[in-house]
Amino acid sequence: AHLDRIAEADGALHAFLATDPEVSLAAARDIDARRAAGEDLGPLAGVPLAIKDVLVTTDMPATSGSRILEGYRSPFDATAVARARAAGLVNIGKTNMDEFAMGSSTENSAYGPTRNQWGEDRVPGGSGGGSAVAVGAFEAPLALGSDTGGSIRQPAALTGTVGVKPTYGGVSRYGAIALASSLDQIGPCARTVLDTALLHDVVAGHDRHDSTSLDFAWPSMAEAARGGADPESLRGLRVGVVSQLMQGGVQPGVQARFAETLALLAAQGAEIVEIDAPHFEYAVAAYYLILPAEASSNLAKYDSVRFGLRVVPEGGGTVEGVMSETRAAGFGPEVKRRIILGTYALSAGYYDAYYGSAQKVRTLIQRDFAEAFVRVDVIATPTAPTTAWRLGAHGGDPMQDYLNDATTIPANLAGIPGLSLPIGTAEEDGLPVGLQLMAPAFEDARLYRAGAAIE
Ligand code: GLN
Repeated sequence: AHLDRIAEADGALHAFLATDPEVSLAAARDIDARRAAGEDLGPLAGVPLAIKDVLVTTDMPATSGSRILEGYRSPFDATAVARARAAGLVNIGKTNMDEFAMGSSTENSAYGPTRNQWGEDRVPGGSGGGSAVAVGAFEAPLALGSDTGGSIRQPAALTGTVGVKPTYGGVSRYGAIALASSLDQIGPCARTVLDTALLHDVVAGHDRHDSTSLDFAWPSMAEAARGGADPESLRGLRVGVVSQLMQGGVQPGVQARFAETLALLAAQGAEIVEIDAPHFEYAVAAYYLILPAEASSNLAKYDSVRFGLRVVPEGGGTVEGVMSETRAAGFGPEVKRRIILGTYALSAGYYDAYYGSAQKVRTLIQRDFAEAFVRVDVIATPTAPTTAWRLGAHGGDPMQDYLNDATTIPANLAGIPGLSLPIGTAEEDGLPVGLQLMAPAFEDARLYRAGAAIE
């Protein structure tokens, strides 16, 4: 049924970069056979899973939205994918994304944009617009994404779906094509908080292949989400609202839904507490130094020798010539911009002034969170300052994309978990608005409980 839905809807939406009905159906039949043989399979066995193209799988290509990896196929499965398979989930296709997850609209994909199922003239957010639209348009019930600065949460907000960035290290990054290693986190996308939690439970946990993966006995997120069904579950919850984020810049219809949600929370017995986060205003600036620095280093491996594309100049050329032609042809403009920024920020003589300062700002933001979480249990913000904009509306001005991440980036800089869930539509355009909840590191379950109660 989902393959039929993809065949019917994806021509217009372009949420998928690759599907292989034979591969998916064979995996589904295998689950059926195991079930028929009496095997005790988990609750998600046989459920289709859309997988962001940043994750490698053995059964389909992985491009990370880039020409430089066109045709690349991995000899192994990413750990998150391997765990999903072990739970019986079926890979239904690889989803579209901004090239190497750099973007906020999926327009930076080398393979053309994904369109928002709420209006095909609208962007779905990014970088994981494909995964968000796949679940939002009923092409898949569950999807995996990656979130380095908001790429799961912001597309969830712009498409009216649910998305979670787990605590840094909560889900293995092994087999996730790296963007910025100190910020990247794999996480689940779905249409409800409980569905998201069920997938989270399957993919989370320690992995010896990822040295930053946490060895921690995670509680069941699904159980936490079910706990949110108790009408009393919001009583006494201390919800922090960041005063600095409320000073303009937020679209009126987004602001209105957010205020209304806070009022509903208060009516259910939650306590709304205004908190200070004086360094949040520097988060975007710090992020756009740290991310390009780490990305320029991670992307150095696309050297035309080990992966994907190889462009040989006429007459053969030198090794350096081949590398340079390959990178010139294989990377898109946003990727090149960030490689140049990052290489500059890391160069001798500038390292302390740029990368070093940005890391100090990162520490100050972590302290803002630590101080806030003494007074509150969760922090609430609009997930994104605006609803979905029209394709092309940012006219190639990267600053407009960057600023859309102001609310999601702080959680990545601090390594804490964040959840986005839909809270209705904006008056002025009828498009979905997302609420973001953040909690201290390791407290992902708190987000699911509160999120399910609000939903
Ligand atoms: N929009 C952000 C960026 O362009 C988010 C990236 C991400 O989370 N992968 O860097």
